Amino acid sequence: MLIFERSHPGRRNAAQAPNHVAATSGIPDALLRKDRPLLPEASEMDVVRHYTRLSQKNFSIDTHFYPLGSCTMKYNPRACNTLAMLPQFLARHPLAPDSTGQGVLACLYDLQEILKDVTGMAGVSLMPMAGAQGEFAGIAMIRAYHEARGDTARTEIIVPDAAHGTNPATAVMCGYTVKEIPTDSEGDVDLDALRAAVGPQTAGLMLTNPSTLGVFEKQIQAIQKIVHDVGGLLYYDGANLNAILGKVKPGDMGFDVIHMNLHKTFSTPHGGGGPGAGAVGVAQRLLPFLPLPVVAKLPSPAGGITSDSAGVLGQPSRMASSSIRGVGGEGSGNGAYRYLTEQDLPQSIGHLSAFSGNIGILLRAYVYARMLGAEGMHRVAEFATLNANYLMAELQKAGFTIAFPQRRASHEFIVSIKPLKDATGISAMDVAKRLLDKGYHPPTTYFPMLVPECLLIEPTETESKETLDGFVAAMKEVRDEAYTTPELVKGAPHTMPVRRLDDVKAARELDLTWKAPATQADAG
Ligand SMILES: *Cc1c(COP(=O)(O)O)cnc(C)c1O
Repeated sequence: MLIFERSHPGRRNAAQAPNHVAATSGIPDALLRKDRPLLPEASEMDVVRHYTRLSQKNFSIDTHFYPLGSCTMKYNPRACNTLAMLPQFLARHPLAPDSTGQGVLACLYDLQEILKDVTGMAGVSLMPMAGAQGEFAGIAMIRAYHEARGDTARTEIIVPDAAHGTNPATAVMCGYTVKEIPTDSEGDVDLDALRAAVGPQTAGLMLTNPSTLGVFEKQIQAIQKIVHDVGGLLYYDGANLNAILGKVKPGDMGFDVIHMNLHKTFSTPHGGGGPGAGAVGVAQRLLPFLPLPVVAKLPSPAGGITSDSAGVLGQPSRMASSSIRGVGGEGSGNGAYRYLTEQDLPQSIGHLSAFSGNIGILLRAYVYARMLGAEGMHRVAEFATLNANYLMAELQKAGFTIAFPQRRASHEFIVSIKPLKDATGISAMDVAKRLLDKGYHPPTTYFPMLVPECLLIEPTETESKETLDGFVAAMKEVRDEAYTTPELVKGAPHTMPVRRLDDVKAARELDLTWKAPATQADAG
């Protein structure tokens, strides 16, 4: 039932009355609306019950195990949210001058520094507002780099077939042709195919490592050499950093540019579809192209840093002001903070949003990183990997088919339902839907497409052994039902407010507008 259907003409919410003063003075008559807007009219009690009931119908990380592979649905500490919501942050106007926002700029600057450290990159911009937008920024920087060198012959981006769909989409949006290369039977990039694919036309390679198959690329050094030898750059899809935090850095693997989904690894849930942040990190040679604005720390007037003696800016000659730290800087000194603009970075790929990114998400990431510290980041990686390998081993023991049983899992792994489907007709989708009835959010289904009838399972580091054991038990129950009562599984879910949706219709013809009953009747 919609809140509109609980509406009664004239029903009011007394507690809200003080705010209910229409501010119409000064607005020309012609611009004032003549009719009341079609808003629901309900009491506070009606509204509270309505939304509380709705929230209880939802699967969420606060209520259920949510092993949605590639999406990292882990517990997000309340403190991160509470601190990011401090009124001093919330009330800041995006157009307020830098001088009145030194606190928030200091947090963002420190976050840039932390992410540089975590990834081994020379500079970071926090501006992209999603993983896909971070990818777009990254490939746009690769393009700007080649063009700045007058190298216009590079027309291709190489993408392994295991990649997330946003990778090839990004390459095409940046004007490149995608060359797909296969994965070998171990789940690694096929090196012979890579060697055959590269050449003077190669702008770069986009790679996810650990890959979406859940394994860490064994040949990463050989891969980076093959691509760099032909003058291409390496792009790291760092949507999920859980398995490598504090353990290994993409910069050390030889990557030139990386995006990170702060809304997966750094304390904002991804699967809920809310706001995100896809910060990008770059190696020295891409520093001039970073998206704006980047937060810089100015040298302190009292004899602080005046020149780039340590060479940390990389290419100071390209910078309008070589004394500004922030792009590649180290963050010492007591200087003031400010946003860099086109004057500072004339070769920047530009702005990606109206203001300065999703600051609420960035602040949560900052608090989370500070709470964890270096020690905590190690623990995240260790427990994420331990939980994934424990769950993988238990499911294998229970007789499920693991896609790459000979490999150690990273933060996630794949179970194929193909043998069960061959025996009973029950598909990965049927299993996923039946898991809902048993109180588990299903894993990611049918991605990556390389493995037939796959479930991509990511338990995350925040789950207990009891929860993981409960999930294994539920998987076994569903498999038993596939043999004994297959119609029960095929008809699932049975306990949810909605049953199986028409996914295609929901994607192609989504209509969320409410129409008053009279209008509906008029329309026939
Ligand atoms: C989630 C994800 C992305 C895209 O991130 P969005 O924020 O959803 O745009 C890209 N690559 C991988 C591997 C991912 O898991």
